Amino acid sequence: MLFAHDTEFALNAAAALVNTGRGGREELPDMAALDKFVTDWEWSGDRARDQAELDAVRALRPRLARVWQMSKDDAAGFVNDLLRDGNALPQLVKHDGWDYHVHATPPDAPLADRMAVEAAMAFADLIRSGQLDRLRTCAADNCDDVLVDLSKNRSRRFCSITCANRVNVAAYRLRRASAS
Ligand SMILES: [Zn+2]
Ligand SMILES: [Zn+2]
Repeated sequence: MLFAHDTEFALNAAAALVNTGRGGREELPDMAALDKFVTDWEWSGDRARDQAELDAVRALRPRLARVWQMSKDDAAGFVNDLLRDGNALPQLVKHDGWDYHVHATPPDAPLADRMAVEAAMAFADLIRSGQLDRLRTCAADNCDDVLVDLSKNRSRRFCSITCANRVNVAAYRLRRASAS
């Protein structure tokens, strides 16, 4: 493991959140979709479950996505903005079977604020260890989903198994066509 478990989890959660709004698809069309995302990514804390909450989470995605393109200095400034805007105050907590990890927002802060600060804390780990380049965009054609390469040898290129398989199948067909 490269980073603390909660950092890696938060990075993957941030990428998953960004990807719910990529490629012209809306994967958070309604409250049920947001509920599922919150459950899948084990978000604890209070929920408003209203349109404002859903709008705020959706609006966070393009903001977080920018970090995937940023220089280290720009990313550091942006992370500082997110932490300041979210009134981040790191505290060690344990809950729901997770051992001690850091929450930097109280459980009653708005969901989008908690998501922003959690992502910012994880980006901060990447930046201060000089590993911001682990934030990548999927190498498959016609896919602009983001990913976090947490592999030891920095070999991850695709956002998902689906994209990896699609590219591998296309390459196989190409080889077979040129061989025959
Ligand atoms: Zn937690
Ligand atoms: Zn992809």
